[in-house]
Amino acid sequence: MTAISLHDCRSRDAADPLRPLRDLFALPPGVIYLDGNSLGPLPRATAARVARAVEQEWGQGLIRSWNDAGWFEMPGRVGDRIAAWIGAGAGEVVATDTTSINLYKVLSAALQIAAQDAPGRRVVLSERSNFPTDLYIAQALCRQQGCTLRLVEAQELPAALDGEVAVLMLTHVNYRSGAMHDMAALTRAAHEAGALAVWDLAHSAGAVPVHLHDAQADFAIGCGYKYFNGGPGAPAFVWVHPRHAERFWQPLAGWWGHDAPFAFTPEYVPAPGIGRYLCGTQPVLAMVALACGLDTLEASLPHGGMRALRAKSLALTDLFIALVEQRCGDAGLRLVTPRDHAQRGSQVCLSYQGPHARHCVSSLPPEGAVPALGQPGDGHAEGAYAMVQALIARGVVGDYRAPDILRFGFTPLYLGFEDVWKAVEQLGQVLDSGEWRRPEFGRRQAVT
Ligand SMILES: *Cc1c(COP(=O)(O)O)cnc(C)c1O
Repeated sequence: MTAISLHDCRSRDAADPLRPLRDLFALPPGVIYLDGNSLGPLPRATAARVARAVEQEWGQGLIRSWNDAGWFEMPGRVGDRIAAWIGAGAGEVVATDTTSINLYKVLSAALQIAAQDAPGRRVVLSERSNFPTDLYIAQALCRQQGCTLRLVEAQELPAALDGEVAVLMLTHVNYRSGAMHDMAALTRAAHEAGALAVWDLAHSAGAVPVHLHDAQADFAIGCGYKYFNGGPGAPAFVWVHPRHAERFWQPLAGWWGHDAPFAFTPEYVPAPGIGRYLCGTQPVLAMVALACGLDTLEASLPHGGMRALRAKSLALTDLFIALVEQRCGDAGLRLVTPRDHAQRGSQVCLSYQGPHARHCVSSLPPEGAVPALGQPGDGHAEGAYAMVQALIARGVVGDYRAPDILRFGFTPLYLGFEDVWKAVEQLGQVLDSGEWRRPEFGRRQAVT
């Protein structure tokens, strides 16, 4: 195989129709940002737009802006724009609250539906390596409702869908391994087993093609501050299939989910459709910033939208894997993310196996080795953490995920092929020099 050169990477950038979109972002000079899967970067337009919302809409318009600036309608209007990226229909999504809170709402609704349609089923099935907040929310709901949370490995899911399972609750793209589930197949398996399917799209909305209707999914939630670039703590979103949307009250039945909030009646009457999944007054300034984030994705539509974004995302992650093999193939790194495109999100995760490991990236089985996750002592936790810190000091911002994962997110809106080259070159230098062993890179901070 001929080596990949920096020149090759630059040629690919020159031929990339999405290349100009990086100018939509205010990325700091000298930074290669491989963490848009954790916090999307700041769009250039956001600061001025939020300033206008503060100074004019709030400052001058005051309370009139609920009507005049369209504040009151924002959860549905922003929700409609999100719907287009997840295979949902207009009027089926609201932008609101946090991912964790929205999961609480939909899982509760799903358990109520299951209790009616399939009494006796009291198990929520999920994956042991699911994102912790999803598991914690499920535990809290199970305690309240006398249900059980059953956790299995990804490959054990189909067999674990037995007659006790009420709800299959999964995250589409795993936050730590980057592995992507087959949403349609698992939803079908859940339905055939008599269970409902709840999908968390935190690492897939805006990152990979999502087709909620085609998959016949029942409920979905997702995040506004990752691939939607909505800013820290941006409103999340919630989708409920129209066949379920009006069957139950969601448990946080606040006045924004009321059919006529400004009638101020003492009795709760749920709004039709997805509207009842709102709770209270929404963070307008954050919603304005989220709308600016969605602008950046919509700027890709003339170039092919998600089809083009996905093609470039796969090209970037393929290139990263190939360059890590080429530059750091004998450094003791192991590929955790699947090589199979159908099973890969928009990130690549490596684990560090320690200085004496015989592994090299290219010797790995294609499916990676996800079961090793969560088993302390398999990977080299301190090494992985320190390598990420050393990379950040060099301007390559990825992140560390316990226990032993170096995680790199690739957002095709603003990353190019030369960026991938440079990031791997920096990783190679960090490994070759051993500088990651310096004490300052080993000190843990509160947020990793
Ligand atoms: C990022 C993420 C969340 C975040 O939840 P918050 O309520 O916004 O803190 C939840 N679930 C998954 C799978 C995530 O990746």
